[in-house]
Amino acid sequence: MDRELLATTLAETGEPSYRAGQVWEWVARGARSYEAMTNLPAGLRQRLAETVPLSTLTVATEAKSDDGTVKTLFHTGDGRPIEAVLMRYRDGRRSVCLSSQSGCPLTCTFCATGQMKFGRNLTVDEILDQALHFRRMEEIDHVVFMGMGEPTMNVANVLGACEALPDLGVTHRRTAISTVGWVPGIDRLAECEMPVSLALSLHAPNDGLRSQIMPVNERYPIAAVLAACERYRAARRRKVFVEYVMLDGVNDLPEHARELAELLDPRGYKVNLIPYNPTGSYDGSSPERIERFRAILAEHRITATVRLTRGRDIDAACGQLAASAA
Ligand code: SAH
Repeated sequence: MDRELLATTLAETGEPSYRAGQVWEWVARGARSYEAMTNLPAGLRQRLAETVPLSTLTVATEAKSDDGTVKTLFHTGDGRPIEAVLMRYRDGRRSVCLSSQSGCPLTCTFCATGQMKFGRNLTVDEILDQALHFRRMEEIDHVVFMGMGEPTMNVANVLGACEALPDLGVTHRRTAISTVGWVPGIDRLAECEMPVSLALSLHAPNDGLRSQIMPVNERYPIAAVLAACERYRAARRRKVFVEYVMLDGVNDLPEHARELAELLDPRGYKVNLIPYNPTGSYDGSSPERIERFRAILAEHRITATVRLTRGRDIDAACGQLAASAA
């Protein structure tokens, strides 16, 4: 919801300022209409329904996976496409994957978003409206900034959205920001008081290979990125989650696992191995190769888990978000 438009509309109507908080409370708890906001005068509800849309986004399409995952394509007011995903887990967890930008300026070779045109940074309200869309379906308890875009390149708005997420039922500790390793962004997160988690998309254990698959590595090579992660760890006293997409024959060999283990302090990092979701350019590692990689890390005392793939049948899985403009 455009909260500035809400505030000016309320002011113009001569309403007391606490009305904005009342409206937000309803919206954050998943109200589907102003009609439902029974502690507001009927006339005001009517007026707001006419002037302040419940969302800054319009839903273009929505797809449902056999595993319960929902992917929604939205358009912003100026026609920019963004996608967000609701993941439902057997244990009852409901996790929402949000986009921070329409498209992405970085060009990671394995990622579908990296192949689409960069649009712009999303506003705080546009980020929250993705989560609110799903909140109107059901309660949510986790948020990951793993949708389109690089959250640390829009860090002020991403953190602005994080501040409001507890109103929707998502605590800071259940909020994760994933980055390609944009050093100033990591430093900004190190200063941030909110205990949100940091995930680093590392994907390769040496600069030669990483630069090949993630051009951003030319700007911020591995040593610089890990130095920033160390500053984050020292400041926040929290582990960093390392994401590693498993590309067959590219970065999944035993020597890569050993090299990765050399890089990481087992006390400070947890590795999440991501099965590759097809975007055209690579083959994914077999489950056997992923297990071999995990076992080598374990021998070096590094905890590694394999990410459960959700929504691949509707192109909603990691790295598969891409859409063209309205
Ligand atoms: N720009 C941020 C946020 C995107 S998060 C970042 O890169 O961290 C999405 C995660 O999915 C990242 O770890 C990304 O590298 C990974 N990913 C991208 N393409 C993928 C693919 N085809 N299969 C599996 N994971 C992929």
